[in-house]
Amino acid sequence: MPQSNYRRNRVLVTGGAGFLGSHLIDRLLDRGSEVLCVDNLFTGDKSNIDHLAGNPRFEFMRHDVCLPLFVEVDAIYNLACPASPIHYQHDPVQTTKTSVHGAINMLGLAKRLRVPIFQASTSEVYGDPSVHPQPESYWGNVNPIGIRSCYDEGKRCAETLFFDYHRQHGLDVKVARIFNTYGPRMNAADGRVVSNFIVQALQGEDITIYGDGSQTRSFCYVDDLVDGFLRFMDAGDDVHGPINIGNPNEFTIRQLAEKVIEKVGGSSKLIEKPLPQDDPMQRKPDISKARELLNWQPTVELDEGLDRTIAYFRKVVAG
Ligand code: NAD
Ligand code: UDP
Ligand code: UDP
Repeated sequence: MPQSNYRRNRVLVTGGAGFLGSHLIDRLLDRGSEVLCVDNLFTGDKSNIDHLAGNPRFEFMRHDVCLPLFVEVDAIYNLACPASPIHYQHDPVQTTKTSVHGAINMLGLAKRLRVPIFQASTSEVYGDPSVHPQPESYWGNVNPIGIRSCYDEGKRCAETLFFDYHRQHGLDVKVARIFNTYGPRMNAADGRVVSNFIVQALQGEDITIYGDGSQTRSFCYVDDLVDGFLRFMDAGDDVHGPINIGNPNEFTIRQLAEKVIEKVGGSSKLIEKPLPQDDPMQRKPDISKARELLNWQPTVELDEGLDRTIAYFRKVVAG
């Protein structure tokens, strides 16, 4: 079925009061779009979008994506979902519902409106990967019944729904697999490694390394990531993904801790805590597809991104 000739000017961002969503909204408004931000404020915070109050092209709606939503928009970015392990494990049933029911409702909306829809999927669909780095063709190594499964399997099921709506209803879907991302407006209390280490260092507390710190992650600065989202949505209606979006520069968690201490200074020591169950041992995106199909690659090195993020958290910690 042909897509409507969408203007892509009024854009829905679900999860828009969160870390990534709020940066995406800033960029969309800069480009002249109107933005409808839908968020139930479960993990997001109004402070992330406070600076947009009074902007006539910005609108906030408090709403849970598990419930149907009837609005008129030209494009949809579906980001609503708790993203950090402590938040998504807080109410795991709700996490799966948000991924699955949220996807169904937003896909139903996209189907009625005949508009493109972007899904914030995740590197977690690869689980604890046995292929390294991870290309999109890798099917993953996911425990279906562990403490991370509500998130991993919820996101995997959402991907299934996106591709079935594409095949069955001809929807223009854009599925991005996002790798670990950091930057200003990360939630200081959501336990993610970059925010934890920076806040601990700024407060002179011990830096908590889970396990021996030899596990790896590849950290993408938020501005680079959002640039990838926009390029994906702007790509032709024959580009559906999944496409990995992340920075392929890989670091051990111990290296990250040492870097943060070196930058922040102070007297923090590294201490080891138990490694959480099913914690992936290595993670690094193969971004050949993003390079080829979106002409995208990250530009901000970890050193520079950490400096910007530390500057942000200095203000947060100072109150
Ligand atoms: P975040 O927690 O800061 O933002 C998620 C937002 O979704 C929050 O504002 C929250 O209130 C909202 N939300 C949660 N459940 C909702 C519901 N049922 N209805 C409406 N709103 C709801 O997390 P983030 O880091 O900005 O992540 C955004 C998206 O990107 C998530 O889908 C996440 O899974 C995905 N992602 C993020 C990363 C990362 O490194 N940050 C990596 C992979 C994937
Ligand atoms: N939906 C929505 N907004 C819309 C259209 C649909 O929230 O503008 C919801 C609708 O409530 C349904 C879901 O999206 O539960 C899936 O819609 P679809 O049309 O695919 O399925 P159906 O309604 O036929 O079950
Ligand atoms: N981690 C850590 N100390 C912390 C927080 C996290 O060593 O204070 C580790 C965690 O065990 C994982 C990595 O850092 O191996 C990344 O954790 P995060 O929760 O940021 O992201 P994810 O595990 O979802 O990739």
